[in-house]
Amino acid sequence: MVPKRFRVLFLLVALASVPASAAVRVTAEGAAPFVLLETAREGSTAWYDAEEWLSRFPGAVASWDPDRGRLTYHRGPRTSILDAGKDQADLYRARVVDGRPLVSEAFLLERSSDFLGLKVAVEPLHGTGALRVVLDPGHGGADIGSRAAAAPPEKEVVLRLAQDVAAKLRRRGFEVHLTREDDRALSATERAAAANRWEADLFLSLHASGEARPLARGFEVFVSPPEPPGTDPRLWASAQVGREADSRRWAEGVRAAVGQAVPSFDRGVRHVPTPLLEAVAAPACLLEAGNLSSPEDAEALLKPKGRAALAEALADAAETFFRESAHTP
Ligand SMILES: [Zn+2]
Repeated sequence: MVPKRFRVLFLLVALASVPASAAVRVTAEGAAPFVLLETAREGSTAWYDAEEWLSRFPGAVASWDPDRGRLTYHRGPRTSILDAGKDQADLYRARVVDGRPLVSEAFLLERSSDFLGLKVAVEPLHGTGALRVVLDPGHGGADIGSRAAAAPPEKEVVLRLAQDVAAKLRRRGFEVHLTREDDRALSATERAAAANRWEADLFLSLHASGEARPLARGFEVFVSPPEPPGTDPRLWASAQVGREADSRRWAEGVRAAVGQAVPSFDRGVRHVPTPLLEAVAAPACLLEAGNLSSPEDAEALLKPKGRAALAEALADAAETFFRESAHTP
């Protein structure tokens, strides 16, 4: 028998720390489609951050009164009020976790249109509908990538990094695939084809450089260049057409994340035509995470602590990308 106050604590910890494993795609008139990730879960019920949800609708003003447990929504002449339930199991009232109002998935599915006064479609993305991230550890097999004197070859460093990022993303409920799980050679075409077969929602290729110049250090993110003006679209076959802005936003997120985790030189985001990125039908970028010849970069990429911080930052970047996404299939 667990004392009552511990049971309450367990419930709170469970609610606060269960990884996101569900998401809904929301399509409404007058708003870009977007994806919400669950904030908390109890049993099979997913709960979503109510303020984040309401913030996606243009012209909407939501205010949360924590003392009264009342969420008020205004949009034009419309006002709706949602009170936090005294009975926390009531799926059609807000529930409060960490001082923030949450709404249940049932509420989003059944009551969104009424509450918002808008025609809203909410589609659960569970199981096979989970958001998919494809990580691509560069090189492999006979192609060892770059090689610095005191470090393992690039192919090994980036595989370990990809595995760490994958573990962190899976814990948050994302479906993650690696283009290679072991030491094998793959062509750019095979990597992109795998990502497209898995219907990636997001793609990240991982690399590190190994330049032997002592001052060469830093990280850099690459995206496919936009279609050159005047190009015949029938000849411009890039799968990135129409995805340039998302890829750029993803690349900037990766850049900011690495900048936070790795105290190194920020070389920015650059356009580079690569057969790999051009063939991926998802927001895609390629990260050169640092120079293995530089002691500072090697610390961040090779030491477990540095690598864990980098993997966490990259997982954050992916989650942020989806949260901020006007995510369309
Ligand atoms: Zn490489």
